[in-house]
Amino acid sequence: MKRLFTVINHFLSISCYLRLMEIVKKYSNGEVTIIWQPKLCRHSGNCVKGLPKVFDYQAHPWIKPENAGSEELITQVNLCPSGALSWEKVNR
Ligand code: SF4
Repeated sequence: MKRLFTVINHFLSISCYLRLMEIVKKYSNGEVTIIWQPKLCRHSGNCVKGLPKVFDYQAHPWIKPENAGSEELITQVNLCPSGALSWEKVNR
């Protein structure tokens, strides 16, 4: 029975990992959209230290692009060392 639970847990872990791999979240201020791919995040903390009013691990959602100007957002996102954060202009 214990072995069965171990096997089930193993498959659940793989399932969770695969789901995480697929996640792409987008947050927009109407001009710029921040794209976040959690699978790439290396937890450097650059974003949180650089723009704490926008990037806050404790908040939901954790990215609030409305709390900074578009140029500030672009500058900070470009400092993400892993590529977990990227941005695109909003087409109007
Ligand atoms: S700067 Fe990029 S790699 Fe670092 S914590 Fe933020 S999202 Fe993750």
